[in-house]
Amino acid sequence: RTTHFGFQDVPVEEKASRVADVFHSVAARYDVMNDLMSFGIHRVWKRLTIERAGVRPGHKVLDIAGGTGDLALKFSRIVGPTGKVILADINASMLNVGRDKLIDNGAGGNVDYVQANAECLPFPDNTFDCITIAFGLRNVTDKDKALASMARILKPGGRLLVLEFSKPPNPLLSKAYDEYSFRLLPRMGEMVAGDADSYRYLAESIRMHPDQQTLKGMMETAGLERVEFTNLTGGIVALHRGIKL
Ligand code: SAM
Repeated sequence: RTTHFGFQDVPVEEKASRVADVFHSVAARYDVMNDLMSFGIHRVWKRLTIERAGVRPGHKVLDIAGGTGDLALKFSRIVGPTGKVILADINASMLNVGRDKLIDNGAGGNVDYVQANAECLPFPDNTFDCITIAFGLRNVTDKDKALASMARILKPGGRLLVLEFSKPPNPLLSKAYDEYSFRLLPRMGEMVAGDADSYRYLAESIRMHPDQQTLKGMMETAGLERVEFTNLTGGIVALHRGIKL
């Protein structure tokens, strides 16, 4: 399947600017659409991510591709005044919405906002106790480079958590989900945000993303150890976790 928005017919150097267009266009409505399109379930997926992150007061946490800051807000409360959270995203529109939301919700001086590309993170080696990337990796052009960059800046013993759409192993669920994402999702996007293209992009980026085992292998290649994953909502989403030893 190809559309003018598909990756299959887009040269790799154009992908980043397509992704930028999508997120500039959805930033203001991103949170509302997220709740609507996942029926609110993204909150449950994110809660589990926080639990598995094992973050404690005083920790230094990076949420890359952090967008509107759902994870960063929770982490800022956990790490407290002696810790530090960095909300980083390549897209200035998403980062602005995120910063406003965190400030409105009382996130204090322990959060910094950084515009950065996951492929070349501008931090020294061995900096973070925990790095999260939620629904971000599939948008990154060179995923291996991004994972290696994350592994480099984790402290020894630090954890990387990747929350991302994945592949439901059950063929019936897989088919139903395809129908939902390729037919219903763009229509909802059109109706609610007047923007079917961005939601068509979403469906296609999900289909192109590596499955659970492939991503596990990619994390291991990047230097992470004890990599494991948990399927959520029948594998529509998977949470991968790896440790830098
Ligand atoms: N993490 C947030 C969440 O779970 O709600 C936002 C996820 S949103 C679907 C994907 C985010 O990835 C967007 O804010 C986008 O700007 C960001 N992004 C895309 N490519 C990126 C890259 N190469 N480096 C950093 N962020 C990127």
